[in-house]
Amino acid sequence: MSDTLQRFLFEQAPVRGACVQLSATWQAILERHSYPQPVRDLLGETMVAAVLLSSTLKLKGRMTLQMTGEGPLKLLMVECTDGHALRGVAQCEEHFEQSEFAAMLGQGRLVITLEPEEGKERYQSIVNLHGTSLAEALGDYLVRSEQLDTRLWLSADRHHAGGLLIQKLPGRWNEEEHELWERVSHLSATIKDAELLHLSQQQIVHRLYHEEDVRIFDTEPVFFRCTCTRDRVTNMLQSLGYTEVKSIIEEQGEVNVACEFCNQKYHYDIVDIEQIFVDDISGDKGNITRH
Ligand SMILES: [Zn+2]
Repeated sequence: MSDTLQRFLFEQAPVRGACVQLSATWQAILERHSYPQPVRDLLGETMVAAVLLSSTLKLKGRMTLQMTGEGPLKLLMVECTDGHALRGVAQCEEHFEQSEFAAMLGQGRLVITLEPEEGKERYQSIVNLHGTSLAEALGDYLVRSEQLDTRLWLSADRHHAGGLLIQKLPGRWNEEEHELWERVSHLSATIKDAELLHLSQQQIVHRLYHEEDVRIFDTEPVFFRCTCTRDRVTNMLQSLGYTEVKSIIEEQGEVNVACEFCNQKYHYDIVDIEQIFVDDISGDKGNITRH
């Protein structure tokens, strides 16, 4: 069962878990861009992490994970909606030799943004990335900032991306529950990359926790979807301003914008451009008034 999220809950202690595996969703990303292997794998892991983290939130809206740094990997960004629609992109130097997580980003920072749907305030947290892997860095972040003991295992290759999360829920914990958490942590840590990538979620849950009392929820589909539209590109051009856009037209004869996520091309000729700035141009062209 690829491209699904499987949530589960341990009956004997307030511990929840989730596992996800991406195949078609991951291919949809890779057929639009080609990345050096370490960047590709980190992008896959970040997509999986986004689905797993969003599964722990009561967010109606969009979550964005964005990593930036001073290393050869400049930017890596993944968006995930509460309905598990995913898109992601990375920007890196062409000649890419670095493959260690910390060195790829170099002084890396992670920005997590939660954008609720209905006019509620967006929430953003910025953290310095520590650790030798994304899974470690995210686990570290969740314990420190949210006081949520969370462990993640993430993996990606050319064909698949997969991951597992377990999280301690807040509450009063008795001795037996602590023991269960320790046991579940140890069991989870025995998961191998090949299993995350190739076993179904049900097989993973069974393989790891068959001696525990686990409640399994219905699987939920995960898919690739880009939210770019011509209207949004038009807004972006409007925010650049008439003078700027006009100078592109004069230089190139047209304006071509490609969505960085999905590569969809948006084309504007001189007539289109005059039209989108029609409200902004007053008298002297180039002198823009905004309302
Ligand atoms: Zn797009």
